[in-house]
Amino acid sequence: MPHDGHHHDHDEGSELSPLALRVKALESLLVEKGYVDPEALDVLIDTYETKIGPRNGARVVAKAWADPEFAGWLKRDATAAIASLGYTGRQGEHMVALFNTPETHNMVVCTLCSCYPWPVLGLPPVWYKAMPYRSRAVIEPRQVLSEFGVSVPETREVRVWDSTAEVRYLVIPERPAGTEGWSEEQLAELVTRDSMIGTGLAKQP
Ligand code: FE
Repeated sequence: MPHDGHHHDHDEGSELSPLALRVKALESLLVEKGYVDPEALDVLIDTYETKIGPRNGARVVAKAWADPEFAGWLKRDATAAIASLGYTGRQGEHMVALFNTPETHNMVVCTLCSCYPWPVLGLPPVWYKAMPYRSRAVIEPRQVLSEFGVSVPETREVRVWDSTAEVRYLVIPERPAGTEGWSEEQLAELVTRDSMIGTGLAKQP
């Protein structure tokens, strides 16, 4: 079982997993008792999904862009290089950094469930865990990319990487032109979550 050791919330459609049911029951109880505000919960989850988590990965990417020595370390031993910035923990024990180049565009999926590098990207987005992405990313990656608004030239190979419990991937998007001399903090602002999954590109300055 290469995907054990973490949640398997196959909760697409109406069937909720036992864990999701327990969470729902707990949430309903807390709301009913007036302990939590469901809207506040949504904001909290959104914060983890889209802000705190991916900001860590963005810092890794920005440092790789700005510091060739760090980029080399990231290529050789991503786990150690990322840990040097303080990003360690569950779902990030064995990291591999995939560098996009003019020849290759990298894209990450977990075809079996939802393996995802939590320490650098936070919680996976809903679409990443959903069956259409998990199956189609492998079968028709260019079509999936175009639906994300990413068109990869035919001359550029698309490589799809299937995550497992053993290995988690972080895509290092290409550094946008026109950012010469930018600080790491400025560069990090251009790095989106999707660009680190491979379903997006870094923002243009
Ligand atoms: Fe998985």
